[in-house]
Amino acid sequence: MLVLGIETTCDETAAAVVRRSGEGPGEVLSNVVRAQFEAHAAFGGVVPEIAARAHIDALDGVVAKALADAGVTLDALDGVAAAAGPGLVGGVIVGLTSGKALALVADKPFSAVNHLEAHALTARLTDGVAFPYLLLLASGGHTQLLAVLGVGRYLRLGTTLDDALGEAFDKVAKMLGLGYPGGPQVELRAASGDPARFAFPRPMHGRAEPNFSLSGLKTAVRLEAERTAPLNETDVDDLCAGFQAAVVDVVANRARAGARAFAERFGAPSALVVAGGVAANGPIRQALQGLAGDLGVPMVAPPLALCGDNGAMIAWAGAERLALGLVDDLDFAPRPRWPLDAASAAPGAKA
Ligand code: ATP
Ligand code: FE
Ligand code: MG
Repeated sequence: MLVLGIETTCDETAAAVVRRSGEGPGEVLSNVVRAQFEAHAAFGGVVPEIAARAHIDALDGVVAKALADAGVTLDALDGVAAAAGPGLVGGVIVGLTSGKALALVADKPFSAVNHLEAHALTARLTDGVAFPYLLLLASGGHTQLLAVLGVGRYLRLGTTLDDALGEAFDKVAKMLGLGYPGGPQVELRAASGDPARFAFPRPMHGRAEPNFSLSGLKTAVRLEAERTAPLNETDVDDLCAGFQAAVVDVVANRARAGARAFAERFGAPSALVVAGGVAANGPIRQALQGLAGDLGVPMVAPPLALCGDNGAMIAWAGAERLALGLVDDLDFAPRPRWPLDAASAAPGAKA
């Protein structure tokens, strides 16, 4: 099954073609991502109106390139998928409307994909991971531990009570004068810093419920930065290193709590999976690798190109849903808010 996927929920305009041939990993035939970083850099974050206009400008070219790179025409597709949320509504409308229009003119089934479900299912595209698995979804807008039980069947075990992990990286980067998006910059600076110079808290450490809290840590970084100012390059490196070390400890401890909660209800997971933009972080991946080793399960993290927002994950989620006969109407409305537990649409779904 060949599916075109379109992603426009945030600040990446993306389209891709993937092939799904039964269980087992899929094949990414093309994956075109046009990031809007420069358009938003001056503001230290994504500006919704600028993002929506940039999606309009870029999308036709991105879709054409995705089809050309894959060497397929619209006729050859078995379906068209577009992210219908959650995200910035202006951008979602652009991608969703284009996806519907393409499905209509090519007379193909349409799939309205939950962006978070697409992050969640990426490990099946790359590694063919079997259900059920424990997922840490860590992105700019979300930080959740989920039991992934099947397509459309997700149970949230824990979530952040305040900031998302990626958001914490972005805010720390902003307060230290590093660019946007902040995660890669903080990771880079942390690599040459001393993680022991500043003692930062590990919020929620040891709690049984697998929830996160990051705003206290973020505030602690701000207070230390203010106390140390004016900051030289070494100060910035050390603040980044201390912050990242705290985050790594928090992630490992919270994921361990998530694994316990998972085991109580569902037995052993087939894998520990990490998804979302923060999954690109090397030390976080390493910490989860260690936890997976303790649990005796494989750790699966998508390759870097599939961690952040991309069209391949949307195409894959669409393919998984279409394979189950889940086709969406062309009047499917954008969903700026769309919690993953509510994505349940598979036959016999139990949320
Ligand atoms: P959501 O998926 O929740 O709607 P989003 O689409 O903005 O949010 P992604 O694009 O999946 O999120 O991820 C972007 C986030 O990942 C940003 O907050 C960014 O700082 C963070 N990130 C990217 N690379 C790294 C890294 N190496 N270390 C830490 N964080 C990172
Ligand atoms: Fe995302
Ligand atoms: Mg993004």
